[in-house]
Amino acid sequence: MPAAQVKELVEVGDWVTMWEDMVEIGDMVSCKTFDDRVGVYVMLEALRQARGSTADIYAVASVQEEVGLRGAVVSAFDVNATVGLALDVTLAMDTPGLMDYEYVTRMGRGTAIKIMDSSSISDPRLVQFCRKLAGERNIKHQLEILPRGGTDAGGIQRARSGAPVITISIPTRYIHSVVESVHKDDLQASVDLVAAFIEEVHRWNAS
Ligand SMILES: [Zn+2]
Repeated sequence: MPAAQVKELVEVGDWVTMWEDMVEIGDMVSCKTFDDRVGVYVMLEALRQARGSTADIYAVASVQEEVGLRGAVVSAFDVNATVGLALDVTLAMDTPGLMDYEYVTRMGRGTAIKIMDSSSISDPRLVQFCRKLAGERNIKHQLEILPRGGTDAGGIQRARSGAPVITISIPTRYIHSVVESVHKDDLQASVDLVAAFIEEVHRWNAS
């Protein structure tokens, strides 16, 4: 648009959004803002799939994660949880031109169990527990260390007097673009692992 027309239509402080439709490309799906709508998808589907839990489960879709984990901090204060699990995307940089040590995760290799990123270090007991659940149920998974970036786990961990946390990540290509892409199998593996977590969280600290 010409500058004059833009100035007529747009004011400082107006909200804008990226625009792109969702497309399926083979086993992949691509869309804008999968970060972090796929997290909400995994949360809802895991709640549907889980066959119950002896724990009280609080599911939260929080706001303003990108600008400082703000929704997570206030939600975690309210819920006052014993254990926190965040759902977010993580980098899948398995694309031409990058070295395998830069991949972080790979598409189609399963859900990602986070060891650490720059917002939180996952409680090692929860990492062990999630690995065990994935092993027992044959859920395809990979371990994730993200050098830069964070998730709501960092907010949950520091709310009130703190709580052990972990993040389950969905490997995603082209994050923060309009063509963020995920693999359907990784989505399902994430749903399966979170459903298992809901069902068995009472024994997370057993050993
Ligand atoms: Zn993001």
